[in-house]
Amino acid sequence: MKIASVIVDVPTKQTDRPFDYLIPSDWENIIQPGMRVIVPFGPRNIQGFVTEIKSESDFKQLREIVEPMDLEPILNKELLELGDWLTDTTLCFKIFAYQVMLPAALKAKYEKKVTLAAGISVASLPFHLQAYFEKGPSIDWDTALKNGVVTLLQREIANGLLEVQYEVKEKVRKKWVKVIKPNVSSAKLMEEMNTLPANAEKQKKVLAYFIDHLEPIELKLLSSELNISSSIVKALIQKNILMEIEMEVYRDPYENRTFERTTPLPLTESQAGAISPILHAIETNKHEVFLLYGVTGSGKTEVYLQSIQEVIEKGKEAIVLVPEISLTPQMVQRFKSRFGDLVAVLHSGLSAGEKYDEWRKIQRKEVKVAVGARSAIFAPFENLGIIIIDEEHETSYKQEEMPRYHARDVAIKRAETYHCPVVLGSATPSLESFARAQKKVYHLLSLPNRMNNHALPSVEIIDMREELRDGNRSMFSRKLFDMLKDRIEKKQQSVLFLNKRGHSSFVMCRDCGYVVNCPNCDISLTYHRAGTQMKCHYCGYESTIPSVCPECSSEHIRYFGTGTQKVEDELGKILPEARVIRMDVDTTSRKGSHERLLNEFQEGKADILLGTQMIAKGLDFPNITLVGVLSADTMLHLPDFRSSEKTFQLLTQVSGRAGRHQLPGEVVIQTYTPEHYSIEFAGSHNYDQFYLQEMMVRKLHHYPPFYYLALITVSHEQLMAAVSATEKIARYVRSQISNEAVILGPSVSPIARINNRYRYQCLIKYKREPNLGGTLKTILDQYQKDAKSGLLVSVDVNPFILM
Ligand code: ADP
Ligand code: ZN
Ligand code: ZN
Repeated sequence: MKIASVIVDVPTKQTDRPFDYLIPSDWENIIQPGMRVIVPFGPRNIQGFVTEIKSESDFKQLREIVEPMDLEPILNKELLELGDWLTDTTLCFKIFAYQVMLPAALKAKYEKKVTLAAGISVASLPFHLQAYFEKGPSIDWDTALKNGVVTLLQREIANGLLEVQYEVKEKVRKKWVKVIKPNVSSAKLMEEMNTLPANAEKQKKVLAYFIDHLEPIELKLLSSELNISSSIVKALIQKNILMEIEMEVYRDPYENRTFERTTPLPLTESQAGAISPILHAIETNKHEVFLLYGVTGSGKTEVYLQSIQEVIEKGKEAIVLVPEISLTPQMVQRFKSRFGDLVAVLHSGLSAGEKYDEWRKIQRKEVKVAVGARSAIFAPFENLGIIIIDEEHETSYKQEEMPRYHARDVAIKRAETYHCPVVLGSATPSLESFARAQKKVYHLLSLPNRMNNHALPSVEIIDMREELRDGNRSMFSRKLFDMLKDRIEKKQQSVLFLNKRGHSSFVMCRDCGYVVNCPNCDISLTYHRAGTQMKCHYCGYESTIPSVCPECSSEHIRYFGTGTQKVEDELGKILPEARVIRMDVDTTSRKGSHERLLNEFQEGKADILLGTQMIAKGLDFPNITLVGVLSADTMLHLPDFRSSEKTFQLLTQVSGRAGRHQLPGEVVIQTYTPEHYSIEFAGSHNYDQFYLQEMMVRKLHHYPPFYYLALITVSHEQLMAAVSATEKIARYVRSQISNEAVILGPSVSPIARINNRYRYQCLIKYKREPNLGGTLKTILDQYQKDAKSGLLVSVDVNPFILM
């Protein structure tokens, strides 16, 4: 008798443990740890993951596994263990840890059906229901809803004639096509060809094709290639010389595109110096974390490519993480061009089906390199030789929902297991990483100069307060305007960057200052020009813009804040000759539009590329000679201890877009706080000075990298319930950890209310607290079990968002 331990797809505290099931004898040799199975759970069937096979259980009366969903494990031993580690370090439910490692397509989809109860025939149903069950013993719930027979069905369910069943379905199917292949040996094909009558020219052509080509081919491709009608092929199928089979094909997001092959470039002296310790670690199977600190355009990517080359030659595999949208098209191209079909790409622009197919190429060992965003860190390779994280400082590497993991930590964990190096690359390393490199925990590698010693662009900082004093009310300083005009005349290209984060356009009354807020959340509604709607980003509440102020009845109520659309409008007025491409969430939501717009810009179809965060990184176009930052300080004043760091990083990244090639570049940064050190040091390209200054600030205020953080957020519909629970939690934490730790709170969250729930928080700053993990787990256990209290408690270890 064999028993499987199964983690079931029910994310609650009570079910966050393995359940034992009997393995039916039919499946005894098939079911293994790491497979998904369908198991009965309460009244329904659900998905689960097998974690262990054993021969005994502490429980009697075990139920049986219904069936396996996989024929081979989809989580190998390493990933199962990584799941345990994720659960422990991020304090999440195990089911979330498994699900996050897999493409969304493998998550279960549940379908509700109504079927005839055992032993009941169609004839015993009331007459008007019989028609629905004539084709088969069950109908699905949607059909029942559509036909308005749900109440009738429910009556018969109560009578025991029918029953409800839940079926577990795959979300995405594999894609199959019909293909043609020979049904006989080549010798036999030859023989057939000779016996065919002389006038059967076309049939002979087909046979000749299959004598040369062994691999199957789609019917329509074959007929177009040989210029014959499909009936010719069908005749040969009828004679059993050819056969038609179904073959699985991958949905290839990059099909119809050719990537010109590139070869390794001879490295510069500094590149050679940087790559040599990495190659040494690869050769000696040594785990080591490198921080590749190189200014924009210093040739980091070539170092990545040649390190991967070495890894592939050793028969091993590589994972490359790049930040989501911004890098994908150009980065993908560089990797595909170097390694061709050995590259799988995983990013959010792909459909679920495409992602699933790319993932399976990895699982089947058909590729050697996975390039992708955060979740690609879980690529199911089994012989990893290197993990590279480009732009390692990017906050998108931290997942903000359960499991709240950081891809950098996962990378280091996996690389330890495989005894291989991790390379963290950035022009503006996170303070945490740079401090670790200073302490020699990471091995620091530097590329201090741009390729061919191209100068970094010269940066001019414009004080917008002075512009205003001089009577310029436009969002463009005189300097930026002149330079934009100059570039258009010279037929060179400009990039205009608008920092949108934390700076949404809101609706305000100019007379009394009334701001339209969400009725459920303490946050202003965001203006959307399309449809004259306002929307809440937190709860989705929508409303139309009032025509008069609800407060003072003034008609001067309108939207504020500089959206990209508004900038585009203004450009149209002041520089009507400029051709502008706007890139923001509105213009890039359609699949492929991001890449299409960039291509148009690259082909010179526009003078100005106007956009948000998504154009800050990775663009490498030779004709860009001017970068304008419209408002450098919008992010500086967010309630976030990383706001200076983020501002510095962003300004440096944006500036890096200019003058990467022959033409020298210039940058104009507009700001209301030119004296702030993050703006000043970004202007002088001085990361080292910025680092020193910011480290002082962090030390003073007990922030990372001097202290670790853990954030507990409590929410409840009643304000007092949220406050008192947070108080209780803070007191408990205090009693469990040392006096060296700092506990801030209970304090109201920066966003005090979301979706009608009041939010309180407690922030713990600590250096070394062996008890803290257990303490936080106890708190979660306590509150997650007690769902009826209405309290929601979440814990974020190493939070990146403190709201
Ligand atoms: P980074 O990733 O550090 O921003 P890139 O890898 O994009 O820098 O390099 C900048 C430019 O220099 C690219 O156009 C790249 O092709 C080129 N480049 C990189 N390494 C070399 C080399 N060894 N020889 C010649 N050109 C190089
Ligand atoms: Zn008003
Ligand atoms: Zn809201």
